[in-house]
Amino acid sequence: MEGVEGTAGDLTVRTSRGVVRAREVVLGTNGYTGAATPWHRRRVIPVGSYIIATEPLGEERVRELFPTMRMIADTKRVLYYFRPSPDGTRVVFGGRASFRTRTALETAPILYEYMVGVFPQLRGVRLSHAWTGNVAFTFDRVPHMGDRDGVHYALGCNGSGVVMMSHLGHRTALKILGRTNRPSAFDGLPFETRPLYHGKPWFLPAIGAWYKLRDWIDRRSAA
Ligand SMILES: Cc1cc2nc3c(=O)[nH]c(=O)nc-3n(C[C@H](O)[C@H](O)[C@H](O)COP(=O)(O)OP(=O)(O)OC[C@H]3O[C@@H](n4cnc5c(N)ncnc54)[C@H](O)[C@@H]3O)c2cc1C
Repeated sequence: MEGVEGTAGDLTVRTSRGVVRAREVVLGTNGYTGAATPWHRRRVIPVGSYIIATEPLGEERVRELFPTMRMIADTKRVLYYFRPSPDGTRVVFGGRASFRTRTALETAPILYEYMVGVFPQLRGVRLSHAWTGNVAFTFDRVPHMGDRDGVHYALGCNGSGVVMMSHLGHRTALKILGRTNRPSAFDGLPFETRPLYHGKPWFLPAIGAWYKLRDWIDRRSAA
């Protein structure tokens, strides 16, 4: 999609393959919101999220690390989240390994060090997979749904989107179908931007460093 014009109920969507007329358009571009929708682009901050997976370690070894086999997320500002793989044989470990745009290959060694910081007994294991993608943060740290110029949107899960964006997508669909008699608490909230922000998060490296410093201070003062 390259752009949307028109008014509520009569929209024209430009795509690389032609033009589509639509009564309803839903924008669900989250961390990939781009130049096609500049108003929304100014309101979400794309942030890379990175994951690594170890080679198979055997169920016994994984159970030693995760006695209850539960997923874990810590409470730092720059958090780690990790879990056994669904088959119980690997460790899958994620975090904000970088606040610049970097590839999964570049960030895998950083995540590896984070992982062995949590599980020193994993030093020396090999990684089989590393991947990355964007999530979308908002300036008020709250997910948003609403309408803008007749276009519905559900954006800005702040890193926890599997449940939240599914929920907001569902709520948006109910709204379009007229099958809800109560608005979502996330619908139509003021959707903030900031001066000098046009969709390229130039400030992220500085914010990331500041958050890491605050995490370090918290940890020192808790010791
Ligand atoms: C590595 C990683 C780990 C994560 N871990 C978790 C987790 O543990 N728990 C959790 O809750 N969430 C997690 N998330 C976040 C979660 O995956 C996302 O929040 C969720 O996928 C957002 O769903 P969405 O449908 O809103 O957007 P997305 O799944 O990001 O989809 C947006 C889509 O919009 C498309 N698009 C963009 N621009 C255009 C355009 N102009 N025209 C047409 N299409 C366009 C993109 O191609 C993309 O397919 C993780 C994300 C990543 C990257």
